[in-house]
Amino acid sequence: MDVDLIQKTIDEMDYDLREFLHGFDPDNLCIREVAASSPLTRNQFKRLSSLWPINFFEDQYIAKCLDGSIFSPNYWKRIHELMMETLNMLNNDSSRMSAIIVKDDCKRIVTKTISRIDQHPLDHAVINAVTNVSEIHRQVKKRLLEDPDSFQCDNNINHYKDDYLCTNYDCFLSQEPCIMCAMALTHSRIRRVFFYDSKTLSSTTIVNKCHDQPYTVEKLHTSPFLNHRYEVWKLFKPEIFANKKVRTS
Ligand SMILES: [Zn+2]
Repeated sequence: MDVDLIQKTIDEMDYDLREFLHGFDPDNLCIREVAASSPLTRNQFKRLSSLWPINFFEDQYIAKCLDGSIFSPNYWKRIHELMMETLNMLNNDSSRMSAIIVKDDCKRIVTKTISRIDQHPLDHAVINAVTNVSEIHRQVKKRLLEDPDSFQCDNNINHYKDDYLCTNYDCFLSQEPCIMCAMALTHSRIRRVFFYDSKTLSSTTIVNKCHDQPYTVEKLHTSPFLNHRYEVWKLFKPEIFANKKVRTS
Protein backbone atom coordinates (compact mmCIF):
# COMPACT_ATOMS: atom_id res chain seq x y z
CA MET A 1 0.00 0.00 0.00
CA ASP A 2 1.57 3.31 -1.02
CA VAL A 3 0.86 6.83 0.24
CA ASP A 4 -1.62 7.52 -2.62
CA LEU A 5 -3.66 4.50 -1.60
CA ILE A 6 -3.56 5.62 2.03
CA GLN A 7 -4.77 9.06 0.94
CA LYS A 8 -7.59 7.44 -1.06
CA THR A 9 -8.52 5.36 1.99
CA ILE A 10 -8.52 8.45 4.19
CA ASP A 11 -10.77 10.29 1.70
CA GLU A 12 -13.31 7.44 1.91
CA MET A 13 -13.49 7.55 5.71
CA ASP A 14 -16.10 9.25 7.87
CA TYR A 15 -15.64 13.02 8.12
CA ASP A 16 -14.42 13.18 11.76
CA LEU A 17 -11.79 10.50 11.26
CA ARG A 18 -10.73 12.10 7.96
CA GLU A 19 -10.22 15.41 9.73
CA PHE A 20 -8.20 13.67 12.40
CA LEU A 21 -5.93 11.83 9.97
CA HIS A 22 -5.39 14.87 7.76
CA GLY A 23 -3.49 16.33 10.69
CA PHE A 24 -0.77 13.72 10.15
CA ASP A 25 2.10 14.03 7.75
CA PRO A 26 1.59 11.21 5.15
CA ASP A 27 5.36 10.73 5.04
CA ASN A 28 5.21 9.60 8.64
CA LEU A 29 2.48 7.04 8.03
CA CYS A 30 3.55 3.43 7.82
CA ILE A 31 1.90 0.05 7.38
CA ARG A 32 2.04 -2.28 10.41
CA GLU A 33 0.60 -5.74 10.82
CA VAL A 34 -1.58 -6.14 13.91
CA ALA A 35 -3.16 -9.17 15.52
CA ALA A 36 -6.71 -10.13 14.60
CA SER A 37 -7.45 -11.44 18.11
CA SER A 38 -6.54 -10.75 21.73
CA PRO A 39 -3.19 -12.03 23.05
CA LEU A 40 -3.28 -15.25 25.06
CA THR A 41 0.34 -15.37 26.21
CA ARG A 42 2.65 -12.82 27.81
CA ASN A 43 5.00 -12.89 24.82
CA GLN A 44 2.11 -12.10 22.47
CA PHE A 45 1.06 -9.28 24.78
CA LYS A 46 4.57 -7.77 24.83
CA ARG A 47 4.75 -7.79 21.05
CA LEU A 48 1.27 -6.33 20.55
CA SER A 49 1.42 -3.71 23.31
CA SER A 50 4.33 -2.03 21.53
CA LEU A 51 1.93 -1.25 18.65
CA TRP A 52 -1.09 0.04 20.56
CA PRO A 53 -2.82 -0.14 23.98
CA ILE A 54 -4.31 -3.57 24.52
CA ASN A 55 -6.12 -5.51 27.23
CA PHE A 56 -4.46 -8.68 28.45
CA PHE A 57 -5.87 -11.47 30.58
CA GLU A 58 -3.27 -14.22 30.68
CA ASP A 59 -4.57 -17.75 30.05
CA GLN A 60 -2.94 -19.54 32.96
CA TYR A 61 -3.36 -22.98 31.42
CA ILE A 62 -1.61 -22.00 28.17
CA ALA A 63 1.11 -20.20 30.15
CA LYS A 64 1.80 -23.39 32.13
CA CYS A 65 1.83 -25.44 28.93
CA LEU A 66 4.37 -23.11 27.37
CA ASP A 67 6.78 -23.15 30.32
CA GLY A 68 6.23 -26.89 30.93
CA SER A 69 4.97 -26.48 34.49
CA ILE A 70 1.63 -28.06 33.55
CA PHE A 71 3.33 -31.41 34.29
CA SER A 72 5.42 -32.22 37.36
CA PRO A 73 9.06 -33.35 36.87
CA ASN A 74 8.00 -36.94 37.55
CA TYR A 75 5.21 -36.65 34.99
CA TRP A 76 7.70 -35.37 32.41
CA LYS A 77 9.96 -38.31 33.25
CA ARG A 78 7.09 -40.71 32.64
CA ILE A 79 6.18 -38.97 29.36
CA HIS A 80 9.71 -39.39 28.02
CA GLU A 81 9.84 -43.01 29.23
CA LEU A 82 6.67 -43.74 27.26
CA MET A 83 8.01 -41.88 24.22
CA MET A 84 11.18 -44.00 24.29
CA GLU A 85 9.11 -47.14 24.75
CA THR A 86 7.07 -46.14 21.68
CA LEU A 87 10.23 -45.64 19.60
CA ASN A 88 11.85 -48.85 20.86
CA MET A 89 8.86 -50.83 19.58
CA LEU A 90 10.03 -49.99 16.05
CA ASN A 91 13.30 -51.84 16.59
CA ASN A 92 14.92 -49.42 14.10
CA ASP A 93 12.45 -50.41 11.38
CA SER A 94 11.79 -46.97 9.88
CA SER A 95 9.08 -48.30 7.57
CA ARG A 96 6.69 -48.71 10.49
CA MET A 97 4.93 -46.48 13.00
CA SER A 98 4.15 -47.33 16.63
CA ALA A 99 1.54 -46.17 19.11
CA ILE A 100 0.87 -46.58 22.82
CA ILE A 101 -2.42 -45.57 24.45
CA VAL A 102 -2.37 -44.98 28.20
CA LYS A 103 -4.87 -44.05 30.89
CA ASP A 104 -4.83 -42.86 34.50
CA ASP A 105 -2.35 -40.04 33.79
CA CYS A 106 0.14 -42.32 32.03
CA LYS A 107 0.19 -44.83 34.89
CA ARG A 108 -1.52 -47.64 32.98
CA ILE A 109 -0.82 -48.83 29.43
CA VAL A 110 -4.02 -49.83 27.60
CA THR A 111 -2.58 -51.02 24.29
CA LYS A 112 0.60 -50.98 22.20
CA THR A 113 0.45 -51.30 18.43
CA ILE A 114 2.64 -51.11 15.36
CA SER A 115 1.66 -50.42 11.75
CA ARG A 116 1.74 -53.18 9.15
CA ILE A 117 0.77 -51.43 5.94
CA ASP A 118 2.76 -54.02 3.99
CA GLN A 119 -0.01 -56.45 4.99
CA HIS A 120 -2.98 -54.08 4.55
CA PRO A 121 -3.11 -50.41 3.44
CA LEU A 122 -5.27 -49.48 6.44
CA ASP A 123 -3.18 -51.35 9.00
CA HIS A 124 -2.02 -48.13 10.70
CA ALA A 125 -0.77 -48.09 14.30
CA VAL A 126 -3.41 -45.59 15.48
CA ILE A 127 -6.28 -47.41 13.77
CA ASN A 128 -5.13 -50.65 15.38
CA ALA A 129 -4.79 -48.94 18.77
CA VAL A 130 -8.30 -47.45 18.87
CA THR A 131 -9.67 -50.76 17.55
CA ASN A 132 -7.93 -52.56 20.43
CA VAL A 133 -9.39 -50.10 22.94
CA SER A 134 -12.92 -50.70 21.68
CA GLU A 135 -12.38 -54.47 21.80
CA ILE A 136 -11.06 -54.25 25.38
CA HIS A 137 -14.11 -52.21 26.39
CA ARG A 138 -16.43 -54.67 24.64
CA GLN A 139 -14.89 -57.62 26.48
CA VAL A 140 -15.03 -55.75 29.80
CA LYS A 141 -18.73 -54.88 29.42
CA LYS A 142 -19.46 -58.49 28.43
CA ARG A 143 -17.66 -59.81 31.50
CA LEU A 144 -19.48 -57.29 33.72
CA LEU A 145 -22.85 -58.52 32.44
CA GLU A 146 -22.00 -62.22 32.62
CA ASP A 147 -20.20 -62.35 35.95
CA PRO A 148 -20.45 -59.08 37.92
CA ASP A 149 -19.07 -60.53 41.16
CA SER A 150 -15.79 -61.76 39.71
CA PHE A 151 -15.58 -58.60 37.59
CA GLN A 152 -15.59 -56.38 40.69
CA CYS A 153 -12.75 -58.40 42.20
CA ASP A 154 -10.57 -58.36 39.09
CA ASN A 155 -8.36 -55.28 39.41
CA ASN A 156 -6.92 -55.88 35.96
CA ILE A 157 -10.15 -54.94 34.25
CA ASN A 158 -12.61 -53.34 36.69
CA HIS A 159 -10.99 -49.92 36.22
CA TYR A 160 -12.42 -49.93 32.67
CA LYS A 161 -15.97 -50.09 33.98
CA ASP A 162 -16.90 -46.43 33.37
CA ASP A 163 -14.53 -45.70 30.48
CA TYR A 164 -16.01 -44.24 27.29
CA LEU A 165 -13.94 -44.57 24.11
CA CYS A 166 -10.55 -42.89 24.74
CA THR A 167 -11.90 -40.15 27.02
CA ASN A 168 -9.07 -39.11 29.39
CA TYR A 169 -6.68 -41.43 27.57
CA ASP A 170 -3.38 -40.21 26.08
CA CYS A 171 -1.63 -41.47 22.96
CA PHE A 172 2.11 -41.69 22.27
CA LEU A 173 3.21 -41.88 18.64
CA SER A 174 6.57 -42.50 17.01
CA GLN A 175 5.83 -39.72 14.52
CA GLU A 176 3.14 -37.28 13.44
CA PRO A 177 0.31 -39.42 12.05
CA CYS A 178 -1.61 -39.25 8.78
CA ILE A 179 -4.89 -37.32 8.49
CA MET A 180 -6.93 -40.52 8.77
CA CYS A 181 -5.29 -41.46 12.08
CA ALA A 182 -5.55 -37.92 13.44
CA MET A 183 -9.28 -37.99 12.71
CA ALA A 184 -9.57 -41.47 14.28
CA LEU A 185 -8.12 -39.96 17.47
CA THR A 186 -10.69 -37.15 17.25
CA HIS A 187 -13.55 -39.65 16.94
CA SER A 188 -12.11 -41.70 19.81
CA ARG A 189 -12.16 -38.63 22.11
CA ILE A 190 -8.45 -38.87 22.97
CA ARG A 191 -7.22 -36.31 25.54
CA ARG A 192 -3.60 -35.75 24.45
CA VAL A 193 -1.18 -36.90 21.78
CA PHE A 194 2.61 -36.85 22.17
CA PHE A 195 5.24 -37.39 19.51
CA TYR A 196 8.92 -36.52 19.14
CA ASP A 197 10.13 -33.94 16.67
CA SER A 198 11.68 -36.13 13.96
CA LYS A 199 14.54 -33.65 13.49
CA THR A 200 15.85 -34.49 16.96
CA LEU A 201 15.81 -38.23 16.32
CA SER A 202 18.56 -40.26 14.76
CA SER A 203 17.79 -40.90 11.09
CA THR A 204 18.40 -44.59 11.72
CA THR A 205 15.63 -44.59 14.33
CA ILE A 206 12.79 -43.24 12.24
CA VAL A 207 12.12 -41.67 8.87
CA ASN A 208 8.85 -39.79 8.64
CA LYS A 209 7.33 -41.01 5.39
CA CYS A 210 3.94 -39.44 6.08
CA HIS A 211 3.66 -35.86 4.82
CA ASP A 212 0.08 -35.14 5.89
CA GLN A 213 1.15 -33.10 8.96
CA PRO A 214 -2.39 -32.89 10.39
CA TYR A 215 -1.15 -31.10 13.52
CA THR A 216 1.87 -28.98 12.63
CA VAL A 217 0.38 -27.68 9.37
CA GLU A 218 -3.35 -28.40 9.23
CA LYS A 219 -4.02 -27.76 12.97
CA LEU A 220 -6.76 -30.38 12.78
CA HIS A 221 -6.73 -30.96 16.54
CA THR A 222 -7.82 -27.35 17.19
CA SER A 223 -10.36 -27.04 14.38
CA PRO A 224 -13.54 -25.25 15.52
CA PHE A 225 -15.45 -27.30 12.95
CA LEU A 226 -14.92 -30.52 14.93
CA ASN A 227 -16.91 -31.37 18.05
CA HIS A 228 -13.84 -32.74 19.86
CA ARG A 229 -10.41 -31.15 20.11
CA TYR A 230 -7.35 -32.45 21.88
CA GLU A 231 -3.88 -31.34 22.94
CA VAL A 232 -0.92 -32.27 20.78
CA TRP A 233 2.61 -32.06 22.14
CA LYS A 234 5.62 -32.18 19.85
CA LEU A 235 8.54 -32.99 22.11
CA PHE A 236 12.28 -32.77 21.76
CA LYS A 237 14.39 -35.63 23.07
CA PRO A 238 15.40 -34.47 26.57
CA GLU A 239 19.09 -35.34 26.25
CA ILE A 240 19.32 -33.20 23.10
CA PHE A 241 17.16 -30.23 23.98
CA ALA A 242 16.72 -30.16 27.75
CA ASN A 243 13.49 -28.41 28.76
CA LYS A 244 12.64 -27.53 25.15
CA LYS A 245 9.16 -28.55 24.16
CA VAL A 246 6.47 -27.21 21.87
CA ARG A 247 2.73 -27.44 22.25
CA THR A 248 1.23 -27.22 18.82
CA SER A 249 -2.19 -26.09 19.92
ZN1 LIG B 1 -2.37 -43.33 9.67
